[in-house]
Amino acid sequence: MTPVPDVTDVVVVGSGVAGLSTALGLAATRDVVLIGAGDGSTPWAQGGVSAAYGDDDPLDHAHDTQVAGAGFCDPRNVRALVEEGPQRLAELIAHGARFDRNGDGSLSRTLEGGHSRPRIVHAGGDATGAEVHRALLTAVQRTSVHMMTGRTVGLLQSESGSVVGVLVETGAEVVRIEARAVVLATGGIGNAYLASTNPSTVRGDGIALALRAGASLVDMEFVQFHPTALHTGETAGQLPLVTEAVRGEGAVLRDVDGRRIMAGRHPRADLAPRDVVARAIEATMRRDGSDHVWLDATAVAPDVLRKRFPTVLASCARIGVDLLSEQIPVAPAEHFLCGGVRTDRNGATDVPGLYAVGEVAATGVHGANRLASNSLLEGLVFGRRVATALTLDLPAKDLGHVRELMLGDDRQPERIRTILSKYAGIRRDGAGLNAAADELDSVGTGPLATVARAVVVAATARQDSRGCHWRSDYPQADERWDRHTVVRLDQDDRPTTRQVQTDLV
Ligand SMILES: Cc1cc2nc3c(=O)[nH]c(=O)nc-3n(C[C@H](O)[C@H](O)[C@H](O)COP(=O)(O)OP(=O)(O)OC[C@H]3O[C@@H](n4cnc5c(N)ncnc54)[C@H](O)[C@@H]3O)c2cc1C
Repeated sequence: MTPVPDVTDVVVVGSGVAGLSTALGLAATRDVVLIGAGDGSTPWAQGGVSAAYGDDDPLDHAHDTQVAGAGFCDPRNVRALVEEGPQRLAELIAHGARFDRNGDGSLSRTLEGGHSRPRIVHAGGDATGAEVHRALLTAVQRTSVHMMTGRTVGLLQSESGSVVGVLVETGAEVVRIEARAVVLATGGIGNAYLASTNPSTVRGDGIALALRAGASLVDMEFVQFHPTALHTGETAGQLPLVTEAVRGEGAVLRDVDGRRIMAGRHPRADLAPRDVVARAIEATMRRDGSDHVWLDATAVAPDVLRKRFPTVLASCARIGVDLLSEQIPVAPAEHFLCGGVRTDRNGATDVPGLYAVGEVAATGVHGANRLASNSLLEGLVFGRRVATALTLDLPAKDLGHVRELMLGDDRQPERIRTILSKYAGIRRDGAGLNAAADELDSVGTGPLATVARAVVVAATARQDSRGCHWRSDYPQADERWDRHTVVRLDQDDRPTTRQVQTDLV
């Protein structure tokens, strides 16, 4: 293996679907260093990749995306997502990804919450993310991309404000790599909450790095909670997911007394968009004083469950429950960040030389609530878009004095997680959010503290409810809030908000 260079064209931070897609798209034209700090969410993805092709219409996919996003999506970027998606999926297959197929050889497509028709392509039953990750990683390994393991702990910034490189911690060493462009592909913020479906590597470093460099965040209040994490009895750390596709096959949610939760609440019942289902479960648990509800798949044919959901079955077996023959305990958990670092549709942030892609970025495709299985797709589509943009034009080399912007450390990570989980979960209100802000005052300015404050200031500012932001003191969507919440750092390095009326970019 050749040593990682200390000067390169592009550094990509993060080796999930978004970072790998970006690196792969750049490999033929640019020198690339790809840095990862362990597996992020990508290999854990279960349900699949949504793609409208054949007898399905990308415009129907766009419509479903916008309905789930509570009308808060950027329509041009949604169009790019749904129209470019099938082509990216075909390329992934050409790179060797093996998706599940029907007897006649066609791709097997399933239904998930919020989709008007079956358009979710999956692999290994419910092991789609692992296959997407494997195929992309193998493809990148065949290129000249330099891969490196380490945590990016800082950015290099020129006097004129351009981002011109990174600082990477590898063991006891901190390595400096200069680059004409830095692409953040660091995933979401799961580790800022006590319980999440995300692995512990997903801790919002990219959000904190971007803020430190002077970039804006947008829509940080829209944190998606997955309705059905397996209730293992653990209240912290990564919880196993029970994919929505189980409900797509016919499973239903029941309260502790066995009554259907979603019947009559939404025209799509158990397959309503995630925010609707998560809120219904939260309300049911609060009413019943319970820490879980039941998911009942006993009416689904055991063969279907065995074939489609081996990962879920294995997770259930680990806690001694059997999806085939009994109800399993589930509860909502933090899952996905719909907002993030504000970018244009080619990943450019408002800081020269700094780009963002994948879950860390906010292109507006998810609006106020992400449609199921649109996230792997986002990584594939927007990873390629960033790569295309940086192939056509690299930012000019910025010479002169360079300063180091460091992430710093969190002294009280557990306290931060507790505060965020208590006050900025599925249900929020002004009094709680003010208490969160007060409590976060004394936790320093490390990355998790910065992420938590960004969520809290955005959630405090938005005095209405839409998508996955639900304020019990402002329970309705209010057209006065048809605007995006932008977060930046103030002079004391504290996140602060303003609202913008216009489109995202
Ligand atoms: C359990 C689960 C199931 C899901 N199911 C689906 C699904 O079926 N369909 C779908 O579309 N989406 C699904 N999602 C969401 C989807 O998996 C993620 O949104 C998507 O994979 C994010 O990809 P990413 O490349 O942006 O980030 P990630 O895959 O999270 O990768 C982040 C990368 O950044 C690296 N990193 C982070 N910080 C640093 C740092 N400081 N320095 C260096 N590297 C760093 C990590 O090591 C990792 O390599 C699921 C998510 C989870 C958790």
